[in-house]
Amino acid sequence: MDQKKLEQEIVQYSKDNGYLAEHFAVASCDHCGHQRFNVSFNADEGVAARTCSSCESEHAIGDSDEYIEDVEDLVRAQCRCGGKEFEVMGGVALYASSVAVRWFYLGLECAKCGSSAVYGDWKHAYDGYAEFLERL
Ligand SMILES: [Zn+2]
Ligand SMILES: [Zn+2]
Repeated sequence: MDQKKLEQEIVQYSKDNGYLAEHFAVASCDHCGHQRFNVSFNADEGVAARTCSSCESEHAIGDSDEYIEDVEDLVRAQCRCGGKEFEVMGGVALYASSVAVRWFYLGLECAKCGSSAVYGDWKHAYDGYAEFLERL
């Protein structure tokens, strides 16, 4: 993964959005350590999940596990090249003078062609960005 490149894309996107992303993390599978996933999300509902392409274990991103079972329409992320396997970088913006997450940015890098972008972003009120990013 080109972490610098994707991080810069998230920063640029977040500037345009008005809430600057300042903290970042890259997802690894909790079970096998693999870093490539199929990703489903719904930006309107603010939920996302990733499925490891090696061991197929599923993981709800951030606090998505609290809501995702009630969300019916999850979009499966797909690159312009048709690729559906991604490395995942999350970026978060915080509330002023706080460690609480204000906004989340879902950055994905296609494993097939290497192009990367922010695929979704949504508002949050999650206390403690470090814990949030550990749950990426
Ligand atoms: Zn795995
Ligand atoms: Zn691609």
